[in-house]
Amino acid sequence: MLTSTAGAPIPDNQNSITAGPRGPILLQDYQLIEKLAHQNRERVPERVVHAKGSAAYGTLTVTHDITKYTRAKLFDGIGKKTDLLLRFSTVAGERGAADAERDVRGFALKFYTEEGNWDLVGNNTPVFFIRDPMKFPDFIRTQKRHPRTNMRSATAMWDFWSLSPESLHQVTILFSDRGLPQGYRPMNGYGSHTFSFWNNDGERYWVKFHFKSMQGIRTWTNEEANAVIAEDRESAQRDLYEAIERGDFPRWRMCVQIMPEADAEKTSYNPFDLTKVWPHSEYPLIDVGVVELNRNPDHYFAEVEQASFSPSNVVPGIGYSPDKVLQARLFAYADAHRYRVGTHYEALPVNKPRSQVNTYHADGAMRFDAPVGTDAYYEPNSFGGPVEVPSVKEPPLRINGDATFYDHRAGNDDYTQPGNLFRLLGAEQQERLFSNIAGAMQGVPRFIIDRQLEHFRRADPRYAAGVEAAIARIHTAPASAPTTTADVIPQAAE
Ligand code: NDP
Repeated sequence: MLTSTAGAPIPDNQNSITAGPRGPILLQDYQLIEKLAHQNRERVPERVVHAKGSAAYGTLTVTHDITKYTRAKLFDGIGKKTDLLLRFSTVAGERGAADAERDVRGFALKFYTEEGNWDLVGNNTPVFFIRDPMKFPDFIRTQKRHPRTNMRSATAMWDFWSLSPESLHQVTILFSDRGLPQGYRPMNGYGSHTFSFWNNDGERYWVKFHFKSMQGIRTWTNEEANAVIAEDRESAQRDLYEAIERGDFPRWRMCVQIMPEADAEKTSYNPFDLTKVWPHSEYPLIDVGVVELNRNPDHYFAEVEQASFSPSNVVPGIGYSPDKVLQARLFAYADAHRYRVGTHYEALPVNKPRSQVNTYHADGAMRFDAPVGTDAYYEPNSFGGPVEVPSVKEPPLRINGDATFYDHRAGNDDYTQPGNLFRLLGAEQQERLFSNIAGAMQGVPRFIIDRQLEHFRRADPRYAAGVEAAIARIHTAPASAPTTTADVIPQAAE
């Protein structure tokens, strides 16, 4: 029986009520008004970043014992399974963007653990373009549309990157083969930030999370991807959805790198710097378990568009780190969901923890699951309301320093790790890197190109020479001349 939202039967869902067969519509035709009004309200604002996404449900199965590092219950036994949701995405494109575009991919996990939700909101890259979150809104501005042309601007991108040498590592990954994966299944995921583990003895370890695709890495060249997009804008969604429907469940090996707390004082790089990896030779990968995706959501809007991940969601045994970008994300993600989905977004089925939720948060739009019949609606109270759990207090973190604006570039080596990555690529991969970069620099003023070439040169002279040669080969129109030499060498990189 078709009903109104108030539950009453609907007599006619095909014809409006009109005054005579040709006559105008009566305002009392509430079913018509309700249908139109609902349609007007069918969208929530799309995510400012990571708008185009795909997700699936699955499980983490623990295969190795890491209980000496963390007391988190989801890891407390080999064979233990925890339900999860994994949402993949592209970053810059809007909700209708094509999947097969060169871009970083989001890799956001929500583990529904017995101690609450743990969200690990990562990417398919181990590093990021910036290390200070003050730069995030500006960086994203350069990836989006120009305010006047309403088109994306290669000049804005390379202007920003060339003025921000800490971006070089991520830029190198983005323009390498792995910057254009053949869908979400054949790519790795990384927690990217440094997080912490703490165990029952109150010891803290720094940790990085890795998810290695068991499908193998598969990537497309720009030309192959262009051909895919011409036929199919949903190539990654289709690949993921269809694989799961036919029972070909994608899997990832979950691994961690573990750093004892005191080591953070000793490494040659800042281990909380989001533009750096921890070399495997120093901190080898330790296997933890296997993530498998085995169920497609039944309703895209309800379960994917409204899925709300936040790195602030951790469980006892897992903690944050001083990583500056992580610190900003702890605020920004939950705030985005409150704005985008609503104050009580965590009460929606896809976001709702499987463990009991007891808070003293009160009212607001759509408060539908308020505790009833309780006198314990504030704290402290004498009526048996929920109380804090001191046993899950994280060990104290030693920090020190005077509060001021520290130059995050001072003393930072932005070139060795991108150079290491460049040197591990084979000759053919390097050639594709050069052409991908040169292709993306078309139309960019020469002084910006020169500034960026200097960064490539500092990472490896062969990197700069390769890009320069590809520019000479690919660019048809001469780029505009540099203004002054001061524009060519960025002060910050000196
Ligand atoms: P290793 O030789 O031990 O590791 C190299 C890593 O590079 C592997 O994880 C490999 O992934 C990955 N890789 C291979 N090709 C590419 C590519 N085109 N784009 C991005 N990653 C790629 O060396 P190190 O640990 O000393 O790291 C050297 C460089 O490798 C780093 O500067 C960094 O750029 C990159 N890297 C390092 C990671 C780390 O956590 N240490 C993680 C990812 C990249 P796979 O094993 O899946 O093939």
